[in-house]
Order: sequence, then structure tokens, then C-alpha cells
Amino acid sequence: MAVEWLKVTATCQQEITIGTGATRAFMTPTNDFIPGSVVRGALAKVWRLAYGDRQPLFRPTFDGAVRFGPLLAQGSDVGSQSVWRCKYHRNHSEPEHVDGAFACPHCGRQGITDPCPACGVPQAKAPSMCSRPGEPLKGAVAFGTQVKKVVASTAIHPDRMTALESSLFAREVFPKGTVFSGYIVGDTELNQKLREFPHVTLGGRRSVLGSVELSLDPTQAPEPIQTRGTVILRTISPTILVDDTGAPTTDVASAFPAGKVERIWGGRLTIDGTSGWHAASGLPKPGDLALAPGIVVALSGLGPDHLRGILDEGIGVRRPEGFGWLEVVEAPWRPPQRAEQGVTDPRLPDTNRPDLESFTPRELKWLAGWLRDSREWNASHYPALWDTTVGKNLNHHKRTIVRSTLETTAPGTRTALASELERS
Ligand SMILES: [Zn+2]
Ligand SMILES: [Zn+2]
Repeated sequence: MAVEWLKVTATCQQEITIGTGATRAFMTPTNDFIPGSVVRGALAKVWRLAYGDRQPLFRPTFDGAVRFGPLLAQGSDVGSQSVWRCKYHRNHSEPEHVDGAFACPHCGRQGITDPCPACGVPQAKAPSMCSRPGEPLKGAVAFGTQVKKVVASTAIHPDRMTALESSLFAREVFPKGTVFSGYIVGDTELNQKLREFPHVTLGGRRSVLGSVELSLDPTQAPEPIQTRGTVILRTISPTILVDDTGAPTTDVASAFPAGKVERIWGGRLTIDGTSGWHAASGLPKPGDLALAPGIVVALSGLGPDHLRGILDEGIGVRRPEGFGWLEVVEAPWRPPQRAEQGVTDPRLPDTNRPDLESFTPRELKWLAGWLRDSREWNASHYPALWDTTVGKNLNHHKRTIVRSTLETTAPGTRTALASELERS
């Protein structure tokens, strides 16, 4: 079997919400990336429509021989768990992120020896960043710019066909035009067949399906610049590990029998993004407990063939669905930069949760209160806001976010977003 990598580029023709299984009363969040299981399910569906599932290549393609990797939106990246973040960054002469997989987070010495031979500080200790302890990233997807949006969908009264005021729902979407990318790894012949399907609808359980244009282009397998010495790898999807008896385990080192595991960052459990779809029965599979993405592993003593095999195959179970997807890390982690032009549709209302992350619960409640006031917000209203107890203490950056939230949240979404903020 000849292993071939396909570069997947998925362009949303409609808004899509990727189900997380975590729907709340008013707000349906989207998963932050498209799991491989969703890509696989979408391709299997169009394949069945075209050929039925008796076509001899169906089973090998969808039951194990092809791996469908996770797709990440342009302008987003998985946060490596080897990274410390400055929680209240104000001194711009200091770094906002330091990656412990490349240098000591305390003194900056290159290397990963623990404790550090230069400063002697154990690597597990949080470094001081802007005079406070740094915070480790937990493997969540980081967005460099507003990618996701909140849109309203209103329940319609069945008789009168009018919107029910009290039945307002909001859902989080990736807007039309969002571009996702990732990989599929499989046999050349099977891959060739998959390339016949340029249009799919993506979604999953509890998702709102969206039509997506798919391009699958053969590409060179990713190779590290060098395999001598220590190679740094990381997972960009959840990982499910089991021991010899089939019981779940968090022992990441056991997943790397070749080479020597020098260090591991991460091991946090999550159920996000793990619900799946069973190809043979067409039934959804329940979520599994998985290790969160962004696990970073430093490995030494690997031959080039070992490394090639690890990248082709990934680690753990349910790998065909993109679990345990590994990539080589060649440079310290940096937060994603602004997305390229044309990634988002500027007409959509723009409420952005990533930017609200720096707000305290009290500030969010305060903002929620103003959101419920659906006046036409303009510059003349703000002096009164900045004069309130909470408003007085907002810095320029936060005030800009408050203004943009009040002025750009669509009337139909305001109540739902306010409720969401109050629950934060
Ligand atoms: Zn800082
Ligand atoms: Zn040091």
C-alpha cells in the first residue's frame, strides 16, 4: 500500500456549526475545529449517494485504511501545552508567551533539561510573567482574529408564522467563506476515489449542516528539517490511549515505543470533539474521554523511518477519525496572527467571544445589561457608561470591545448574547 498525503482545503459556502454535544438553553456553541470524524462522515455520505456502500473500496476507505485529520480554520491554531502565557500582559518588552519545549521559561536557556542547569528552577514551576505567575495553555484552539460569530435563529409560531419573542436562540457559527485546512492520509487508490467529491455538507451530531467546497490535493508528507537529536511533536486533535487490556490510560509515553521520550507536556482529559460516527452502522458513537489536544512530546533517538511512521499513523485508538494526530514542531509556539483577507464575511454581526476573555465576570454582567438596552448606540452614549463604577476601570482596549459589541450585535442576537455573558 502506497501511503499518500492529501492536503484538505474546505471553504464554507454557508455558515456552519460543528456540534459539540454541549448545547445550552439559548446558545449552541460550535466546536472550535472540524474533527476528522466529521470529514469522514460527510465524505461517506456523498459516496453512498453516488455508489452505495457495496462498492468494494467503501469499507477500506471508511473503516480504517484512510485517516481523516482534523481541520483548523485559517487564523486559528491549537495552543501547545508546553506554552506559558502571561495572563495580564502589560510590559511589552517581555514576551507574552514562552514555549518550554524550546527554552527554559525562567532564564531562557535553550533546551529542555529539567531542572534547568543554568538557573536550577524546576520546569513545572510557573515562570513569572509581568510580575505574576504565567498560566499554561491547555490545548484549546486559539483564534488570531474574530473567526466565529454568533447569529440568531428565532423560533417561528406555527400558526401565525411570526417570531416568538420568548423563543430566541443563538448559535455560534463559522461564517460563510471561512477556510479550513488539514490532511487526509491513505492509500493512493482510495484517496483518488475520495477526490471525486468536491462538495459535501459538514456538520455532526447537533450541528447545523453547511455546504462546503472541498479540495483534496496530493502533497508531500510533512518532513522535519532534521531528525538528529531531539524532535518535538505535538497533537492537534484529542487523543484516546488504551493500555494492553484495552482500558483507557493517560500514559502518553507508552504511545511512543520507538525512540526515547525526553519530556511530555500535557495530559489533561476532555470529552470535547470526541463524539463520532460509525461508518458500518451509520450510527453516532458516544463521546469518549480523551486527552486534550496540544500535548507536546520531546523524543530522541528516532530514525527517519520511525518518525515517518509516527506521522503517517498517529497515536492511540480511533486514529482513522483523526484522533491522536501528530505534527512536528520546529519553532516556539506563537499565537495565530490575523487571518488572511476574505476569511470572514464582514456583513455578519460581530460579537466576539475570544476578545471578551479578558473581561471579569462582573464586567461581563455589566456589558450584558447594556446589551439588553437595544437603543441605536452612538458616541454620545458612552460618557455615561464610562462614568459607572465598572466603566471607570475599563482600559482603552476593553472600551473599544464594549463599543464594538454594542454597535455591531444584531438586534435579534442581543438577548441571547447577554444571557450567555451572564452565565460566564
Ligand atoms: Zn506579560
Ligand atoms: Zn533556566
